Order: sequence, then structure tokens, then C-alpha cells
Amino acid sequence: MIVLGVESSCDETGLALYDTGRGLLSHALHSQVAMHEEYGGVVPELASRDHIRRALPLLEQVLAKADLPASCIDAIAYTQGPGLAGALLVGSSLACSLALALDKPVLGVHHLEGHLLSPLLASEPPEFPFIALLVSGGHTQLMRVDGVGRYTLLGETLDDAAGEAFDKSAKLLGLGYPGGPAISRLAEFGDPLAYTLPRPMLHSKDFNFSFSGLKTAVLTVVKNHDEKVIANICEQDKANIARGFVDAIVEVLTAKCVSALRHTGLKRLVVAGGVGANAQLRASLNAAAAKKKFKVYYPELEFCTDNGAMIAFAGAMRLQRDPGAATRNYSFDVRPRWPLDELEAA
Ligand code: ATP
Ligand code: MG
Ligand code: FE
Repeated sequence: MIVLGVESSCDETGLALYDTGRGLLSHALHSQVAMHEEYGGVVPELASRDHIRRALPLLEQVLAKADLPASCIDAIAYTQGPGLAGALLVGSSLACSLALALDKPVLGVHHLEGHLLSPLLASEPPEFPFIALLVSGGHTQLMRVDGVGRYTLLGETLDDAAGEAFDKSAKLLGLGYPGGPAISRLAEFGDPLAYTLPRPMLHSKDFNFSFSGLKTAVLTVVKNHDEKVIANICEQDKANIARGFVDAIVEVLTAKCVSALRHTGLKRLVVAGGVGANAQLRASLNAAAAKKKFKVYYPELEFCTDNGAMIAFAGAMRLQRDPGAATRNYSFDVRPRWPLDELEAA
């Protein structure tokens, strides 16, 4: 069965073809980052319009790369939510109109389920059950995953998401948007002893997180500089602040993963979402895994942030378990707000 996946929840247009027999056949992505950069964040209306511009050329690309005609598609999976309403509408209308034209069924996929299952696309996928750390631009959650759609939320952020904390702190250091990768690179050159920032909720004895205080701590450090103006902070000191921030957030994320594994007795940890691409987080989790004897799994780097492959894959997983999950009712409805635990088990 060949599933076309369509992702358009935020600022990436992603399409992919996944074959349940042969695996991922092709994928194509357009990131709007450069377009939103000058506004310091995603502008929803611009995002929707750009999805419209990009979607059909990307569809042609994935078909050409897989060397298949559109008629070979057996079902179409699209991101139904959560995300920006206008952006979601572009992907869902493309999916439903194409499905109508091809006389194939459609399936709305939960974006976070896409992220969560993305490590299963890798060459050595984990088996269920596992603990999942979902660290993206809009979410930070620890989940117990017993199967497709069988998710138990153990804890989540009470305020900012991890990716948001990376981006906001990077912005304070004048590193542009989205600054996660930039602050991570800069931190490599920082002195770990220069600034010790707070580790919010490290000892809270639950699986929740809070990162808005950490961002405020970065702001305080920046403001304490004589120059007052970030442009005047020397590069080395910026790197030191970046290092202080990264060390703090990585320590909290690692500690909560370790305690979730201990609490549940599970031995597998899966990391998903954009911050899962972070080199310091991966190094810290790998070190903890070696010490505490658990295994840690990551998506391929290119599938950490938003992409069509994870949506095609999540759709295929659901359809394999329940062919009735797809519908020929092409009247789509998007779900900009959609808690993951409202999903039904497959
Ligand atoms: P959600 O999935 O919650 O709706 P999103 O789709 O915007 O949010 P993702 O695409 O999964 O989120 O991830 C984007 C986030 O990942 C951004 O905040 C970005 O800064 C962060 N990020 C990406 N690469 C890195 C990295 N190497 N280090 C730290 N953060 C990173
Ligand atoms: Mg994005
Ligand atoms: Fe995402």
C-alpha cells in the first residue's frame, strides 16, 4: 500500500510517499524559514499562501523521485491538526481534492503522532512500549507509548516548549529566527563555568517542565551587561551565555527522561521533534543511556523537524492496523487545537 503524506501545519510544506512494503519511497520539503525570518516568527497568513504556492510542485517532485504516476497512490494522509488553521486548510484541501480526483480514501493525521512515530522510520526502529520525549517548537511532553494511538501523558511543560525556549533565548542573543540550531552551535564555544542558569523543576518529582524562567534568566544575564545592547556583548560572552542556557535545559530534559524510565521500568527512550536534532541533548541522553543501561532512539536528523514523511508513515501505520480509518467523505475539517490523548488507539 502506497500512502501519500501531506504536512502543512506550520511553516514547512512536506510531501512524501511511503510504501508499507518497501518503506519510504520519496519525500520533498519546502521550509518557509527564510520568509518568516524578517518578522522574527511565523506569520500565519504568509504561511498559508506559501503552502498554496509550494504544494503542487512538491507533489510532482515526490511522484517523479519515486517514478510513479499519481494513480499508484492508495491513500492520502494529511496533517489535520494541531497547527495554524489556515495552513492546515491548505494541506487538507489538497489531500481531499486529490483523493476525490483519484477516487482514493483520505485520513487526517495528528501532527504530534507524526513526530512521535518518526523514529520508527529509522533503520533500527524501537519496539513498543517505550518512553517518548517529544520536544518541538510548540510542545514538550513525556509519554508512555504502548502502540500506535496508545499514548499516556506522563508530564508536559507548564509554559514554554523546549523549542520555544531555544528560539526565545537565541533571539535575546541576537541570533535570528528560529535560533535553536544557532544557539546550540554557539554554545559549543562557551565556557560551562561562566554562567550557571537555573534548572527549572529539576527536583519537582513529577514529569512536568517549565522553561519560561530559564528564558527570563537569559534575559537577566543579557541586561546585566554594561553595554545594555546585545550587539556590544562580545562573541565569547555570548557563547558563554548560550552554553549556560543549553547546559541547563539539557540537564532538565535528561533528568526527567531518566526518571520517567525508572518510574515505568521501561528500557527504551524515543526522542522526537525539532529539539531532538540538538547535539548537546543527544550527547547527554547517550551518556545517560550508557550509564543507566537503556537504549535511546532518534529520528533521522532531517525528520526531527516538520516533514511529510512522518505524516505518510503515521497514516500508513494506522491504515495497516485499520483499513477503515480512511474515508471517502472528502468534506475536511481541520483541528488547530487537538490534544494528543484524544486520539483513539489504532
Ligand atoms: P509542533 O510540532 O509542536 O507544532 P513545530 O512543528 O514548529 O512545533 P518542530 O518543527 O518539531 O516544531 O521543531 C522546530 C523547533 O526545533 C524550533 O523551535 C527550532 O529552534 C528547534 N530546533 C531545531 N533544530 C534544533 C537544534 N539543533 N537545537 C535546538 N533546537 C532546535
Ligand atoms: Mg517549522
Ligand atoms: Fe512539528
